[in-house]
Amino acid sequence: KKLRVGILFGGRSGEHEVSLLSAASVLKAIDRKKFDVVPIGITKQGHWLAPGDAHSLLAGDTSAVARRLRAGDPEATPGAKLLHEGIPTLMVPEPANGESAAKAALSPASPAMLDVVFPVLHGTFGEDGTIQGLFELAGIPYVGSGVLGSSAGMDKDVMKRLFAQAGLPIVKHVTILRSEWEKSPKKAIAQIEKVLKYPVFVKPANLGSSVGISKAHDRKTLGPALDEAAKYDRKLVIEQGVGGELRKGKLGPKARELEVAVLGNDDPKASVVGEIIPGKEFYDYEAKYLSEGSVPIIPAKLTRAESKQIREMAVAAFRACDLAGLARVDFLMEPSGKRRIYINEVNTLPGFTQISMYPKLWEATGVPYTELITRLIEFALERDCEKK
Ligand code: ADP
Ligand code: MG
Ligand code: MG
Repeated sequence: KKLRVGILFGGRSGEHEVSLLSAASVLKAIDRKKFDVVPIGITKQGHWLAPGDAHSLLAGDTSAVARRLRAGDPEATPGAKLLHEGIPTLMVPEPANGESAAKAALSPASPAMLDVVFPVLHGTFGEDGTIQGLFELAGIPYVGSGVLGSSAGMDKDVMKRLFAQAGLPIVKHVTILRSEWEKSPKKAIAQIEKVLKYPVFVKPANLGSSVGISKAHDRKTLGPALDEAAKYDRKLVIEQGVGGELRKGKLGPKARELEVAVLGNDDPKASVVGEIIPGKEFYDYEAKYLSEGSVPIIPAKLTRAESKQIREMAVAAFRACDLAGLARVDFLMEPSGKRRIYINEVNTLPGFTQISMYPKLWEATGVPYTELITRLIEFALERDCEKK
């Protein structure tokens, strides 16, 4: 019997568009001999769409979707409403009698039961544990980390505490609350300058895709950087910059950005190490998704010992944050000198198009894209069985 897989995409996050690209890739490559696929789109406003509208969303036809939402389309359910009344109707209704599973799935009146969900979502309300909580409540197995791992992996402050506790090398940093920054800016700046030297990176604690992140080379640019990050989060993380110092008006060599893909549950495996060469001063949103300037190199040019160390650190980070299924673990390496390596972050639902780093790293390690999707679904089911 084929498994019914719900592919969830879109969502209320700054990475909505990236999610659409990832989902389109998954829908194209998923093994249809093994799986019946039910696409479930979530609009930017948080409305859940039945398969027909989900396809419009995926095809970029948001105007049709918006029209129907304005008209009070009963098939589009606000996410919050789902908690109270909707999730049973959307996800665990009676299988339709006498209808083929595929037909039932496409008929909004009688969607059939899902066996597993693959949340192809990035960022807020997708990668941060919130939707994982909904799956737990609904009793549906899902691809990726649980509630704790997802939320820990989204919070750059909490994540660093877990890394440090596991003995993983992190950059020096300061965490301050937006309220502290707004109440006494001078004190906040003094606190930062006591611990760090310029350049520093200022980040909202809970976000991804470089949204709200800026680099400050001096006190004059630090204030605006803090204001910018404070737009997105109540908690701000300020980090020691690795590489990229401004000397006599010239920018020194940037940090090397190394990434490892981890796959598995209790016995996670690490891929080969890859490297991203950002086209810009740092790997910001534009460099990630809009320009062609960022080139991936797989495998990264490293010594054997460095590769081994980085892959071990990736697995240790996966365990430290109690992750499951998949994660891309990112590192920063000093561009010269001692070539010190720092762990930067884990991403629990990394970009997942066929040409994204996570799938590319597994392809280079011997797991092609379609098989990778199958394995992730198998890990979701394995984890669910262990839970019971
Ligand atoms: P996100 O979760 O949004 O991807 P990151 O912490 O990975 O946030 O930061 C985005 C990018 O900013 C990195 O890929 C890197 O280019 C740059 N960056 C972040 N922190 C540092 C740092 N401490 N030193 C040097 N570059 C950094
Ligand atoms: Mg991230
Ligand atoms: Mg990153």
